[in-house]
Amino acid sequence: MPELPEVEVVRAGLAPAVTGALVTGVEVLDERALTRHTGGGTQFEGALVGRRTQSAARRGKFLWLPLEESGEDAECLVAHLGMSGQLLLREPGAPCERHERIRLDIHHPDHGDLAVVFADQRTFGSLAIDVLVATPDGAAGGRGSRLAAVPSQVRHIARDPLDPAFSDTGFRAALGRRASAVKRVLLDQTVASGIGNIYADEALWAARIHPETPALALSSRAAGRLLGEVRTVLEKALAEGGTSFDAQYVNVNGQAGYFAHSLNAYGRTGEPCPRCGRPIVRVAFMNRSSHFCPACQRGR
Ligand SMILES: [Zn+2]
Repeated sequence: MPELPEVEVVRAGLAPAVTGALVTGVEVLDERALTRHTGGGTQFEGALVGRRTQSAARRGKFLWLPLEESGEDAECLVAHLGMSGQLLLREPGAPCERHERIRLDIHHPDHGDLAVVFADQRTFGSLAIDVLVATPDGAAGGRGSRLAAVPSQVRHIARDPLDPAFSDTGFRAALGRRASAVKRVLLDQTVASGIGNIYADEALWAARIHPETPALALSSRAAGRLLGEVRTVLEKALAEGGTSFDAQYVNVNGQAGYFAHSLNAYGRTGEPCPRCGRPIVRVAFMNRSSHFCPACQRGR
């Protein structure tokens, strides 16, 4: 599943191509890729052709291209990558991709004609035209856009901890209000976005906090340490996700492995903890698993 680092790689790769590009053609091959769009394929095509994409923006795992205003409310093209969605940049007229669902032909004043292909093996992802709504804090809606607005479909998603406008105070306050397991709060996209299961386990390991510690039982020092480790883990993953960055051909691959050699706890069941040597354990957690060191993450 694409996580924040992979989505950021896609955003950064698309940005030069879609900043100021004119949409010259749209082809919807599979309407299941429009499940979050109100309107059918023909309406989607007609609503996009002739418009300009301004930039590529991201918040957490959500990606959007603000559209040049057409006189009415500002709109954007928002992408939900789901489990396996990909946004690929291709040469014009490039052969149809496997699992291709939607293709946008664009013309960029500097880069010429290009194709933006939305491909999705499992069809949980989708594209949609959505209205942009103002951010309550007046700061930019996401990375890659200066507009203080987010798609209405992304409004309930909190900023991610790498966002300059992320509120550390608000995050600590949210932890302090909740009796649920701290890991559950980390995964709650309305508290902070972009922290998937892997990054939650890694940050908790680094901060020496047991994943099931009630969030409100954390001292403010521990909460601060945890937030710091969340940022470190995400930045590291971003740096490594960025190694596959290619300005011309962007590719998200949902396969594990890009970050695997850096993991200390996640997926290391039975292996020695890199800090104390005791075996890492795995327990069931919210339909997934938690990996931690019972010796150095005591907590509770
Ligand atoms: Zn340990």
